[in-house]
Amino acid sequence: MSLDNLINNVHLSLSISEEEAVDLLTKISNTFKDNFFKKNQLKNIQDEIEILFSILKSSGYIDEYLQCDCGEETEIYPPNTTHCEYCNQLLKNSFVHEITNLFKLKNELNNELNLRNEEILKSVIDDQFLDIFYELKDNIDTIIPFLGAGTSLPLGLNNWANLLNEMGASLKQQDKDYFDKCINKGDYLGAINVLKNNTLRLSTDEDIKKHIVRQIEEKYKSGLAENYHNIKDIINLEPAFFITTNYDSSLIDYKEGDKYPYTLDQIEDAHELLNKGKQIVLHLHGHIRFTRSMIITKEDYESLYKDDRIKSYLNAIMGTKNLLFIGFSFDDEYFKDIYYNSFKHLGGQHFIIQDNLHPDEARDMLKAGLRPLSIKVDTSNFSENYVKALKIVLKNLL
Ligand SMILES: [Zn+2]
Repeated sequence: MSLDNLINNVHLSLSISEEEAVDLLTKISNTFKDNFFKKNQLKNIQDEIEILFSILKSSGYIDEYLQCDCGEETEIYPPNTTHCEYCNQLLKNSFVHEITNLFKLKNELNNELNLRNEEILKSVIDDQFLDIFYELKDNIDTIIPFLGAGTSLPLGLNNWANLLNEMGASLKQQDKDYFDKCINKGDYLGAINVLKNNTLRLSTDEDIKKHIVRQIEEKYKSGLAENYHNIKDIINLEPAFFITTNYDSSLIDYKEGDKYPYTLDQIEDAHELLNKGKQIVLHLHGHIRFTRSMIITKEDYESLYKDDRIKSYLNAIMGTKNLLFIGFSFDDEYFKDIYYNSFKHLGGQHFIIQDNLHPDEARDMLKAGLRPLSIKVDTSNFSENYVKALKIVLKNLL
């Protein structure tokens, strides 16, 4: 049977997509490598082990062996062996032997799956960015994911422009025009000011923060299956910790262990972040659970980024780890500033994944100390295709 047939059989028999079938087979191949395994060890990977096992067995990608316990001695024999090399009795003589069926994957499976995964990877990364992908993969043990709004959109949440558009619906025409102008040029803080100065309902920071909290709570698709977003793919990178500018709970909802949304005020020093094993989530711009922690206005941004802590944490992180920006547009002037400053002093290999980058944009990023990895995303159904393409990249980093 060819790999294509095997993938197709797994896809049809287990009612999973072809992509999931490739993932499943890759997981099996990575788990067992060229070690012996027992049939029931598949249970840790897939529930339907009888179906899966019979497909694998008929595929020809698996070799069978017999493990024979003969008194003190244990030996593994090819299946056509008839006699025990210790007592010379028939292997199948159950009075003297305990026989266990063992299996081993053929090397071909691993080789062919590697080629297949590389083809899939190349379908979402342009050749010119492949080197950066492999560089990122080589450094994956030191990566700290830094998540921006893009990773929360698939969970039903708004980006800044959409969030603001909803908030500005009650503005008078003249104010609305100016408000829209601010949004269109990406000046979200300016737009917030227009709201504060020209509405009654959203005239204070507190009103605005409460409104955003309500919005997030209403729209957030709690428990959304892993296929439809990338949060779990990012968690699977198993970094020392996570940083996000998002206010929502997606990371702490999908990760194991410490589920507390840390904000800057709750971190004593950079060592607490780097403390291996805890894998905490630092919400750099605050979290909806603590309305006051949320960085929304120009004043909030100025006081946050004037704070020496943020500089010293970033220096400590960039000195020993490599950042990986995902769903982060890097057009936040405040953050850009302190990032470039730290980079000037410390250097390091920090990566950013963005979609459909033009080579000129990529070159500008490289000059500014960011190693860009552009993913090809078909814009006809952007949101869904973005999740899929990013998923392929993140899975191939493991
Ligand atoms: Zn024997």
